[in-house]
Amino acid sequence: TLCQQASFLTSATQLGECPSDSGLEVAFAGRSNAGKSSALNVLTHARLARTSKTPGRTRLLNFFRLDDERRLVDLPGYGYAKVSLSLKQHWQQHLEAYLGGRQSLVGMVLLMDIRHPLTDFDRMLLNWSGACNMPLHVLLTKADKLSFGAAKTALFKVSSQLKQEFPNARVQLFSAPARQGIEQAQSVLADWLRL
Ligand code: GDP
Repeated sequence: TLCQQASFLTSATQLGECPSDSGLEVAFAGRSNAGKSSALNVLTHARLARTSKTPGRTRLLNFFRLDDERRLVDLPGYGYAKVSLSLKQHWQQHLEAYLGGRQSLVGMVLLMDIRHPLTDFDRMLLNWSGACNMPLHVLLTKADKLSFGAAKTALFKVSSQLKQEFPNARVQLFSAPARQGIEQAQSVLADWLRL
């Protein structure tokens, strides 16, 4: 199965500090509190990312090793009012540099709280991935917060919006505590990472 031996590799504040750009890499992105840490942990059967974090804490690019050839990358999210504009701009710049320049990047997972999908942050990442035709997989997180019917409706709405604007993107329902959508997400990762 996917990533049984996933472990923390390194953090980088800029492109120069990233591990060697070889092999295959999948990046995880999402606004703060979207459920990225929870998803990373449940998808890799590991405790890679802490789920309780200080709002506004400086977030870096965090690299996790799956094996010698494969990595997952936790991209910085933002969304807390406490974070200064200059810090947001710094993040945006190094995110853009990473996404545009990383050869080993084969796909991106974008996490959106199902109750607040397609924020400006999400659209920024969708635009970048669309511009370089990068495969992107959306996890609509916290699906357990909605009824089955409401979750399906939200999925349909986001799916039709993406279809028009971002043909490189796919979307699914996800819940870490309800263990919903885990196998579906893992099979996307396995496909991208050629596992
Ligand atoms: P991150 O900031 O994107 O890394 O988000 P976290 O993974 O730290 O999750 C933020 C909060 O949402 C935490 O309190 C989690 O327990 C909660 N959470 C994350 N995923 C889910 C989910 O699928 N369902 C529910 N009900 N809560 C979730």
